[in-house]
Amino acid sequence: MPQLAILNQKGGVGKTTTAVNLSAALAALGKRVLLIDLDPQAHATLHLGVTPDNEVAGIYDVLCRDARLPETVRAVGENLSLIPSTIDLAAAEVELAGEVGRELLLRDHLSDVAAEYDYVLLDCPPSLGVLTLNALAAVDEVIIPLQPHFLALHGLSKLLETIDVVARRINGRLKLGGVVFCMYEAATRLATEVTRDVDEFFERNRGGAAPWSQAAPFRTRIRRNIRLAEAPSFGQSIFDYAADSNGAEDYRRLAEEVVAAAGAARATTVRAA
Ligand code: ADP
Ligand code: MG
Repeated sequence: MPQLAILNQKGGVGKTTTAVNLSAALAALGKRVLLIDLDPQAHATLHLGVTPDNEVAGIYDVLCRDARLPETVRAVGENLSLIPSTIDLAAAEVELAGEVGRELLLRDHLSDVAAEYDYVLLDCPPSLGVLTLNALAAVDEVIIPLQPHFLALHGLSKLLETIDVVARRINGRLKLGGVVFCMYEAATRLATEVTRDVDEFFERNRGGAAPWSQAAPFRTRIRRNIRLAEAPSFGQSIFDYAADSNGAEDYRRLAEEVVAAAGAARATTVRAA
């Protein structure tokens, strides 16, 4: 079961939009998907129409109150389940500070449901604290949403360093699955230059031992599309809100690429065995 963390320590780059709509697109392809909202801002939770108040059991209860993970799962669509974030989650960083093995809590809980889903996606907060470390310890792959911005590569190197440290110390399976350009504006010179720089970066690093030695930007680029920005206020994924929009088309194509990549990885493993 592929487990993917959608991560970038910068805010506003398209993490939540990607986590929600990629999850919904995978579900529409018939995959059983669990999305976990690990951001105390609870944007993914709201995007899927769930109010993150104290009545709701969420990922905070799993990490800090030892609730069983399946008890916090709620169905939010066909093939699509969510573990919500709640306001309490902001306290997790402090509450877990003295806990031995605090980075491994999520990984241990996820093993309870491994057989029930084809994909687990984690929407990470814009920081590299204990919640993000839990995500990195639990998943096989990180997907990094990037906005084609002139500092995009600068932030990327810090993030790759963190992925490398986690891969060496706590999760030997961890790989960078790919970078997805979000809010892409094809007509701008900036977008062309940044995407070329990122392509070249991964080309130069191909074949080494780093967790990103097989990674590349996804061919699908998520275009800037106002429907994607509107959908959260209706508590709907782009497929329920505007199925004919460019945003829906782009996330559908991204999901197909993600599924194809998982298939290719499986084939490689089978050949190697
Ligand atoms: P993050 O989770 O990284 O903070 P979000 O996914 O919340 O980023 O995106 C930041 C803002 O940009 C949100 O208001 C979101 O609706 C909007 N947005 C994201 N992707 C797109 C897109 N492709 N086109 C237009 N608006 C977008
Ligand atoms: Mg977010």
